[in-house]
Amino acid sequence: MSTLQTRTILNARQPCDYRSKAGYGCTGKRKSVARYCEFHWQNLTDSGHVDGKLIHRSAYRPLQARAAQYINAHQDHPFIVKALDYIRAEVVNPGRMPSPPYKKPRSLSQIIEQQTYLEVRRLQTPTPLLKGNGTAGETVVVDRPDPVSAEEVLAVCVGVWLAVQLRPSLLVNDGECLNFALANAVLGLRRYRCVVVNGEASGRPPGTRARRAIGETLRHLSHTCQQVSEKLAPHIKETPEQTLARKADENQPLPEAEADERCYIPTSPKPIAPSKPAVFVPSDPGPRPILRVSGDLALIEAWNRRQKLWQNYLDTLTEKVS
Ligand SMILES: [Zn+2]
Repeated sequence: MSTLQTRTILNARQPCDYRSKAGYGCTGKRKSVARYCEFHWQNLTDSGHVDGKLIHRSAYRPLQARAAQYINAHQDHPFIVKALDYIRAEVVNPGRMPSPPYKKPRSLSQIIEQQTYLEVRRLQTPTPLLKGNGTAGETVVVDRPDPVSAEEVLAVCVGVWLAVQLRPSLLVNDGECLNFALANAVLGLRRYRCVVVNGEASGRPPGTRARRAIGETLRHLSHTCQQVSEKLAPHIKETPEQTLARKADENQPLPEAEADERCYIPTSPKPIAPSKPAVFVPSDPGPRPILRVSGDLALIEAWNRRQKLWQNYLDTLTEKVS
């Protein structure tokens, strides 16, 4: 019997699976059926790594504002147009669909698709901010936020990209953690989903799998993000040490590599065109050898075979002509 309940009870007896870099473990109790305690599980869910942390909005908001200014000023540049088109196709337009892709998602991939839809839908249909106790007529709409635009998404991505370049300690790694950071920033543009149960509102933060899926989508913009970041903060291209090293190297460039030291990408072998099968063309055997002269029967036999082939060949030729 392995219901969720028994598995949870058995799992709670085990300690958290976390190990720090120094090799220390964690004494926390495992959460539900997870490998980690609540703290480390939350880190993993939020940032894609057990040691990671959510990047606070204040870390990138000023950078996001500058990026938005830059993007609005250069909307017609092909780089920006391409990036905005991509965001419209992958993030904005899926959120404009009025109904979710599945009535009841079954497989894991369907669940991820459904969750991703709910999140991008929330960005396009943000809930208005109300003030009051919920009674009709007494509640005042304080703020009715606009749907998220493609420019806003690109600006926040560039903001996060710049923030982690300027302060690398914000990220544990620049693989999945950067994907999660981008997704978290975009998903945090509007209020999270919220359900009211028995009069109490409870927030529904985006799921890990939806964050990962959206992060991987946004990561395709990395080239544009890097280009815009370099324009906004030219010094991130090279550290002062790298600049010094480059200047020192310019005077004494490295010698060219010898031919046998160079590395090549192996080229694929050329396909060999199948050659036509050789057609056997018999030759004229000439006059029949005379038995009386040579006295060799084998010679006569060979001549007979050649004569037969020759005759067949002549017949096929006449057939072709007629
Ligand atoms: Zn732990």
